[in-house]
Amino acid sequence: MSKAARSKATQTPVAASAVDLPIRFGTVGSPTVTPKSGGSPAAIACIRELNLSALELAWVQSVSAGDELCARIRAAAEAHDVALSVHAPYYINLNAESEEMWQAGRDRLLAAARAGYKAGATDIVFHPGSYMKRDPQTANTIALSRLSEVADTLRKEKVAVTLRPETMGKRAMLGTLEETIEWSRQIESVLPCIDFAHLHARAGDGTFNSYDEFVTAIRLVAAGLGERGIKQMHIHFSGIAYTDKGEKHHLNLADSDIKFKEFFQALADLGVSGRVLCETPNLEEDAVLMQNTYRRAYARAAR
Ligand SMILES: [Zn+2]
Repeated sequence: MSKAARSKATQTPVAASAVDLPIRFGTVGSPTVTPKSGGSPAAIACIRELNLSALELAWVQSVSAGDELCARIRAAAEAHDVALSVHAPYYINLNAESEEMWQAGRDRLLAAARAGYKAGATDIVFHPGSYMKRDPQTANTIALSRLSEVADTLRKEKVAVTLRPETMGKRAMLGTLEETIEWSRQIESVLPCIDFAHLHARAGDGTFNSYDEFVTAIRLVAAGLGERGIKQMHIHFSGIAYTDKGEKHHLNLADSDIKFKEFFQALADLGVSGRVLCETPNLEEDAVLMQNTYRRAYARAAR
């Protein structure tokens, strides 16, 4: 974080605790200012110093945290009141063509959930996979039965986490908002991770980027999942570059077309609670900007 940005972040008037709002804000991955040697426990302290209150551990390549590290992460999260989630490895495909490929992905998801739970994470985010030339309905049937299998395994092991299939930014990928809602209707321990930037990129034509479109999406979640969907919403947010096929890469809020003020107003007006995790290159600066934008929106909505 630059000196100017740091002073901007600390001078912005915010209440003593960041947890006085219905939504917690944080980052996917450690804030860039985290001391290199400190690992996740230091990242958690950093989140609190920034007056944020959520962190998603980016275990996106593999799950390597042992019991000792998980215990230290959990202790840090409790001490600093930081809500934890895990981003599971990328290499998971609920619709994998071969049984071997599926089992490899399944084992990564199970490993992320087991270690995440030990570390105090309540939510395990993962990318659901691709259509693999199957028609969406067949792909969805396969995905649903495999996701149920994972949820059953974790339930039997008393690993009490919510599995969060993420809405994806490319049209070849499984993970429309409707699909993630449907899986969540069918399986008790599943809820969407809604990446609104991905949904904007997935449309590919500049749509899904207005107050009304954000409201429509939130109402779709409410219609499908009720309070369960609205009161513990798990959101990824960023600016995004895209083509007509969907996502290219994430961008800083200021460098993108994403209508973030309208987005946070929609969250505030519809009474959404939960977490927003920032995924822009300006990781913690944009997380603080998101929280400040939401704080103003919330004050307006409450009036
Ligand atoms: Zn993701």
